[in-house]
Amino acid sequence: MSETENEVKDPRIQGIKTKIRVVPDFPKKGIMFQDITTLLLDPKAFKDTIDLFVERYRDMNISVVAGIEARGFMFGPPIALAIGAKFVPLRKPKKLPGEIIFEEYELEYGSDRLEMQVGAVDSGDRALVVDDLIATGGTLCAAMNLLERAGAKVVECACVIELPELKGRERLEGKSLCVLVEYR
Ligand code: AMP
Repeated sequence: MSETENEVKDPRIQGIKTKIRVVPDFPKKGIMFQDITTLLLDPKAFKDTIDLFVERYRDMNISVVAGIEARGFMFGPPIALAIGAKFVPLRKPKKLPGEIIFEEYELEYGSDRLEMQVGAVDSGDRALVVDDLIATGGTLCAAMNLLERAGAKVVECACVIELPELKGRERLEGKSLCVLVEYR
């Protein structure tokens, strides 16, 4: 759990933590892969995860939830529906038709880029960025840049898991980050 102002203290968190499977050396040697598919297999732990975020964001006037492909698509839409916000997918290259903007970023293993459709987000939108995990923070930075370039205000980023040793939080330059589980 995060030792920050955004710490979520709740008895449900321990149950969530036990459902995340850690797979050593996947997808390559040295990576401790945090597998959230085992969390999705447990309806109670999955619901608790969504509920904790919904309880936090329902009164924050969020107008758009932006989910990062692919695991942000598993947590973002149920949060968006529950808080009455639109959902905007931030996708890997060449998936979105029409006019797009993009940001390139570094991953813990490799590099990639995120794309967003022009017109999905309006200036004045209040955004929540959702992903499964923050490692180095590069993905969340790219997502925030896309939203801010479209004129949105990023209110907070929300991830199920943080890898604190990779210091991704420091890259967010003071932007709020809420995580449920820390893996050390
Ligand atoms: P980063 O940009 O370094 O913060 O990496 C975060 C993104 O990469 C997220 O979309 C994660 O799904 C994925 N990722 C990075 N490291 C891991 C890991 N150890 N286990 C699972 N997913 C990871």
